[in-house]
Amino acid sequence: MTDPRPAEPRRELPSVDRLVRSLADVDLPRAIVVATVRAGLAAERARRTAGEPPADVAADVGRAIAAVRQSRLRSVVNGTGVVLHTNLGRSPLAPAAVAAVAAAAAGYTNLELDLTTGARGGRAAYVERALALLCAAEAATVVNNCAAGLVLVLRGLIAPDRAEVIVSRGELVQIGGGFRIPDILATSGATLREVGTTNRTTAADYAAAVSPRTAMVLKVHRGNFYMAGFVAEPKPGELATVARAAGVPLVVDLGSGAAYDVTPSIATESAAVETEEGTAPAEREPSPAEVVGGGADLVCFSGDKLFGGPQAGVVAGRRDLVERLGRDPLFRALRCDKLVLSALQATADVHLSGAAAAELPIVRMLAATTGELRQRADAIVAELDGLAATATVVPTRGRVGGGTMPRTTVPSVAVALVPGRRPAADLAAALRRGDPAVLATVAAGRVRIDLRTVFPHEDAAVVAAVRRAVEMPG
Ligand SMILES: *Cc1c(COP(=O)(O)O)cnc(C)c1O
Repeated sequence: MTDPRPAEPRRELPSVDRLVRSLADVDLPRAIVVATVRAGLAAERARRTAGEPPADVAADVGRAIAAVRQSRLRSVVNGTGVVLHTNLGRSPLAPAAVAAVAAAAAGYTNLELDLTTGARGGRAAYVERALALLCAAEAATVVNNCAAGLVLVLRGLIAPDRAEVIVSRGELVQIGGGFRIPDILATSGATLREVGTTNRTTAADYAAAVSPRTAMVLKVHRGNFYMAGFVAEPKPGELATVARAAGVPLVVDLGSGAAYDVTPSIATESAAVETEEGTAPAEREPSPAEVVGGGADLVCFSGDKLFGGPQAGVVAGRRDLVERLGRDPLFRALRCDKLVLSALQATADVHLSGAAAAELPIVRMLAATTGELRQRADAIVAELDGLAATATVVPTRGRVGGGTMPRTTVPSVAVALVPGRRPAADLAAALRRGDPAVLATVAAGRVRIDLRTVFPHEDAAVVAAVRRAVEMPG
């Protein structure tokens, strides 16, 4: 590569002060600006010491500041069509949960105080009770996320002479970034006892693996991929029978925690599973109550997948086992704060009140008809009249995401943008860097904003963001 910069005369580096002053209207704390400027100057000094030609420090620092601004946590518009997008913070909260967080955040709470007796109380007494009821379980508890819940379960159920955890080879999976079942087992001090094969594991395989060293049978719900063809696995009831006969607990890592069944909502719009043979009806995620009812001694799931709440890990099941988790010193390190507990409590109440369909944003998004989405898309495209890019309404397919219902695609409607001369990826990047940031997808030379995951109240902001991004020089 040749250097496109004109050769600059070798000159003194600008001062920290001058660079900071040139960035006076950046909406970041001065300390962040100063630190970024210093880092930019240090990099330039190193370049010059290495004998490289001088760079435009002011421009470099400007870009670095822009990147720092973009790294601040803030709201974005999700135009990807993936409802539970892990990179975008999974589930938006129900209005009641949002209000509960705001109220708890702004003041004091009875976090560890029993208001009836005035004595020190359990941190999450109500939410644990509500979650237990929701899961048709004796007891429930909450920690930071599902991964943390699984770690606590493993630590609680193994002993030095009984550390083997029986898992099907078809379930030794990677769930998200850096979350692999075998690694979690190893971290928790458990010994993996693999059974079956990748595609087929039977109840007899589990039964044959039981020994005096067995701590538990673990079933990991396959949520982010699927297997088809010559496959077999025991029915949940069969596995419970094996575990009971062996006198060891059956633990189900469920992941999604679908306390409300979204499948009928999606299916009304003929959501389909694409299989090699054609299409099949949408998948159904088992509910935690079903899993407990099917004989699981413990079930763990995420708060922010199909449960529709904040990031949390719920563990529900037998009281003696749940209480054991609470006695682990590590529990203290993995517990939730008042904000998460408030949001989770409100979300559990929404489920228990039968209000999930009306109140949970993710359910409403999944249930929106393509007719409604098309109307909004038409209105957005009409607003974009006269733009230096072609905007059209196109059918598309979204997903549930968050490692759930991997075969289900949800029919949806998108605003498609074909930028004049610049590549579509360029326009998508401009949208992503805009304010608000709009996350779109690029396919076949078009930028697509799927309206299923855009809140209706964000439509006007999308119009403005598209206008700015199209006008922005590439
Ligand atoms: C998503 C998922 C997890 C991890 O949940 P986090 O709450 O993100 O820790 C664990 N197990 C299964 C089966 C999952 O689908």
